[in-house]
This record gives sequence, structure tokens and C-alpha cells, in this order.
Amino acid sequence: MYLRKTCRPCETKKNAARGREDREMRKAVESAAGPAKWKPRVMGQGGVEGGYTEHPDEGYRFVCLPDSHGYLADPEAIAAALAFVRFYKPVRIFCLGDHVDFASISRFDKPPSDIARIGEDLEACTAFMTEVRKSAPDARIHYLKGNHEARFARFLWKHQEVAALFSAQGMDLPNLLKLGDLNIEWEESGALEVTPALIVKHGHVVRQRSGYTATGELERNGISGISGHTHRLGQVYKRSRAGVMTWVESGCLCKYDPDYMEGQVSDWQQGLSFGTVSLRGRGFTVHTAPIIKGRVKALGVDIGA
Ligand SMILES: [Zn+2]
Repeated sequence: MYLRKTCRPCETKKNAARGREDREMRKAVESAAGPAKWKPRVMGQGGVEGGYTEHPDEGYRFVCLPDSHGYLADPEAIAAALAFVRFYKPVRIFCLGDHVDFASISRFDKPPSDIARIGEDLEACTAFMTEVRKSAPDARIHYLKGNHEARFARFLWKHQEVAALFSAQGMDLPNLLKLGDLNIEWEESGALEVTPALIVKHGHVVRQRSGYTATGELERNGISGISGHTHRLGQVYKRSRAGVMTWVESGCLCKYDPDYMEGQVSDWQQGLSFGTVSLRGRGFTVHTAPIIKGRVKALGVDIGA
């Protein structure tokens, strides 16, 4: 006679329950993922990848890539951000908007050289998006419309004949940027609900100093969130009867010294934000990651191209 911890039927039952739970989890991740083209990978599968395991078996990782500004993008910062994407292996990526600059069609005064740059601007944006896709072949990627993308629509309102020509050709901005070919989803509203307790958006508020805008957005939205737009990095917290909330400003991936700064020091910080979303309940984590001299500093590691 020997002793077993559990009898065979009990063990079979337990294994069946575990299997059922696994299948349910997969289903939940897949429904969070959305369209079928996107193949989600649950954290923990195949062991620890990227060295980061919050919500190890019940959630997914995400990365937010802020303002890259088309031809004003900083190649070093972008290379570092994409190296971080390859390291962290997010299941979802939110491109936070302003990935074109469109200085040439802005209402601001600009030198004639900017006009010629509209093609360069579009190309730089598509090149950036292509690299994002290459760095995360299976991720679901969203492109949130920012105020610089909105310049395009405003330009078309003023030039109805061009608008008519474009619509006859079936061309709109997502098309011009070849987002369909890259399987990148365009978010016209510039905002997305990640969970009922967390939103991502390009952002409208701009206040001086790191964190001031985050405070403004948190007060205005009343729930946790992530935004770009200010080119500053910051994170603030607030506790109310609803619980602890946070808001993150995600920095930028553009150069620090575009011509229009005319030698002034821009109070910007290159960086990105990232985190995890739990599929059980409304839990999430979100963090900022500065890019210092072409290296992402986060999670106790230093990542560059
Ligand atoms: Zn911007």
C-alpha cells in the first residue's frame, strides 16, 4: 500500500479544471486582442522574456511610442525605443500620434524649404511605422491621430479641389501612410479605452513643466491614462474614493532642436511609456522610460540599438 496526496479521479478533475482555465484565459486574451490578424502572446508563455513579469499568466504587455514628428524624428531615440520594443515584447503598441510633422501645411509661418518637405515627412512616418511593425511582428499596433495629423484634414478643408481629387482616388491619410499594408489600426478619435480604468490618447492639454499636463489630464478625465503631445516625461498619482489613479506623459522621439526653436533649449524629454494590463479585473501598471543619449533606461537595464 502506498499513499497518494490525491486520488486519481481528484487529480484528473483538477487537471481538467486547470486546462479549462487555460483555455478561458486564452480566449480572454484573444478577445482583448481584437481582430484575428493579431496573434496575442500571454506573458509567461515560454518562460520569462524581457525580464518583466507583472501579471505573469493573466495579462499582456504594452508599449506607447510618443511624438516622432516625421522628418524631425531623432534616429537615435527611435532606434533605442525599438530596441526596447524587441526586448519587452509587447502584445499591444500604441503610437500616440504626431508621427508626421506637416510643418508645410501648418498655419504657422514657415520657410519655403519646409513646403518641399511634405513628401519627406510622409516617407519618414511610413519608415517609422514599418520599423515598429518589424520590431513587433505579432503585436496589435494602434496609431492614434494627433494634432499634427489633424493638419492634413484642415488643409483639405481649405483646398476642396485637392480634397475631391484625393477622395476620388480613395486616398486618405492612413492610406498615404500605408497603414493598411502594415496592419496598423488608425484611431481617428485620437483616444482609446485600454480597460474601463485606463485610457490612452494623444492629448490636448499643454502645460509648462513635466507632470503639470499629466495633472491636468488626470483631473479632466477622472480616470488613469497615458498621453503624448507635450514632449515631456512625467507621471503623477491621485487617490480618491474610487482608488489610486495615475497619469503618464510619455515624452517624445523627435529631435530636441528643430529650426523653429531658434537655438532655445526645449524643455522636452525623449522617452516612452510601457506597462501591463491584467485580464482579471481592472489591474494595470504603467511606467515612464527616459531615453538618455540614445539608451532607454528602464527596468534596471540600459537598452540601445
Ligand atoms: Zn508632438
